[in-house]
Parts: sequence; C-alpha cells; structure tokens
Amino acid sequence: MKKLTRQISIGGVVVGGGAPCSVQSMCSTDTRDETATLAQINSLAGAGCEIVRCAVPDMDAAETLGRIKSVSPIPVIADIHFDYKLALKVLEGGIDGLRLNPGNIGEQWKVEEVVRAARERQVPIRIGVNAGSLEKELLVKYGHPTAQAMVDSALGHVRILEDIGYDQIKISLKASDVMKTVAAYRLLSDAVDYPLHIGITEAGTIFSGTIKSSVGLGILLAEGIGDTMRVSLTGDPVDEVRVGFEILKALGIRQRGINFVSCPTCGRCQIDLITVAQEVERRLQTVDAPVTVAVMGCVVNGPGEAREADFGIAGGRGEGLLFRHGEIVRKVPERELADALVEEVMNSVKKD
Ligand code: SF4
Repeated sequence: MKKLTRQISIGGVVVGGGAPCSVQSMCSTDTRDETATLAQINSLAGAGCEIVRCAVPDMDAAETLGRIKSVSPIPVIADIHFDYKLALKVLEGGIDGLRLNPGNIGEQWKVEEVVRAARERQVPIRIGVNAGSLEKELLVKYGHPTAQAMVDSALGHVRILEDIGYDQIKISLKASDVMKTVAAYRLLSDAVDYPLHIGITEAGTIFSGTIKSSVGLGILLAEGIGDTMRVSLTGDPVDEVRVGFEILKALGIRQRGINFVSCPTCGRCQIDLITVAQEVERRLQTVDAPVTVAVMGCVVNGPGEAREADFGIAGGRGEGLLFRHGEIVRKVPERELADALVEEVMNSVKKD
C-alpha cells in the first residue's frame, strides 16, 4: 500500500498524494553547454524520463539553464549548493524545482529570499541529504553517518523551511550503502508526510548500480515509500531511466514499454536464442506501449509463455513458432525469427 504523502507539482508532474512514482534522471553534461544538455534532455525524455535535474555550479550555468528550461520537453530541477544567488537566478529563469539544502545557504535572510521567490512561483524545494556530507555536529553525535543521523540532518533542513512557512518540500536521503539507505527512508517516512525522492547514490556502474538500485528501491517501493526515484549509474543517464522503469514494472507500479520475457536457454534449445532475444529487445526499446513479448527456446515451456504473452516465439529445430495473443500465427525459419516477432509487435503498436 503506497504511503499517502502530501502532493506537490513539479512543472505539472504531480508528485505524492497517491500519484505513481515518477522516474527522474540527472544530466551528465556541462549545463553551460546548452546544445549538449538539451540533446541529453531530449534523449532522456524519449526514454520516458519525467523530470530531469541539472547541476548549477555558477552563474553561467544558471543563465543557460533558463534557456534550456524554456524549450525542455520535461520539467527541469536546478541542483544548487551554497549560493543563494544561483537559486534566485534559476527561479527568475522559470525553473520547475530546486534541489537545495537551506542549511547550507548561510544567513537566514538569504534562505528567506530564495523561499520568497520560490513561493511566488510555487516551485518546490527538494532537500537532499547525502551520507557523505553530513553536518559535523551530527557526525560527532552519532560517530558516523548513521540512518538516524541522515534523518536528523533532513529534519533540520525541513525545519528551516517550515519556520518560514514553506511546505512545498520533497526530501531525499542518499547513501551508497543499500540497507542504510533503506533504514533511513523508513525512519523518515514515519517522521514526515512530505513526498520522498528515493535513490541509492554512487551505486556504481550499469551492472552493480542496477543491482543495488533494484534491491534498495525495490524494498522501499514495495513498502509504499517513494514518490519520485532516480537510479544513479556511472554511465549514460538514459540507462538510469530504463532501469527505473524496469524496477517499477517488476513491482507492477507502472506499465511502460515492453515487458520482456526470455528463457535462460538450456540443453533443449536448438536455435541461437540469445542473439534473437538481444536483437528483439534492442529493436523494441523505443516502444512505449505496455506489451508483453516472450522469446523462448523450446517447446517445453516455450509455447506456454509465448501464449501468455501478447506476442512470442518458441524455438524448435532451426525454426520457431510465432504466437500472437495466444494463437500460433505460423512457423518461421530461425534466421527470420527476430524480424517476424518485431514486425508483429510493431504492426500491433501502430494500429493502437
Ligand atoms: S524454454 Fe526450453 S530451452 Fe528455454 S530454458 Fe526452458 S526448457 Fe530450456
């Protein structure tokens, strides 16, 4: 059961209040490079990314981000540390969200100025606590960055905003340790009803990062925690979005694109199934419609899975059976299996 959090809107994307978890990513480009950043945002949006974050290290980046935001197909969040002037600049430029920790901004009047400008435009602020940069007092109190220390840090930042009457807040608590992150979000979820952005930070490369994120975010989402999510990967951010949707699809929270079923192959398989499966998955990557596609190696489990799927193939000796909605369409020679299956799927998607 999804935990009911307060609802906010990030550039029109509804977050919290029972809305399904949205998939976010972050540009890896230099924000000052307008062309490269926009190209990456367009690729991310094409993969289904719903909200994108960009780093704002200086005033040049803040100015460029205004232009980027004005043509971005998805809402843009500015990631700001320490300098309140950068926050004011991106707010002026029409940014959809801020990621900023009020406790790191300095004097109270600076925070108040940022909040005043954010309030005028109804721009939410995400407080993002990272285990690697906790306040010294908390490290002294707890000895090291524990889950509770992370929560205390977040609540400290939240109080600063609440004291000036601002509640358009989202919170994240990230650590590279999966179970510490899970523990921290559980504590935070019990303590507040603000929407939560979940992620395992510095999770690693595509291989290890996908596993850590799937485990950590999977546990949280299954417990109903998480209103937006980001899978952090050392790699192309488009993969972050793909992995994000796969996690949500596996949990039955969102449906988008191909639900791909394929067998691991065994001694019964008499076609080059791995090549066929990889090719089919790659060629169907751009399909948005929720369609289940099965690529199975033989007639033992193959026909059953292929029948249950919207479309499927079950391998035989040098050929395979093509299925459409549970019915056998025809026998197809091995070398044409991938083409035949992709064509079936594409024809059905075009008709819808
Ligand atoms: S579907 Fe057939 S080939 Fe694939 S793993 Fe199962 S028994 Fe083996």
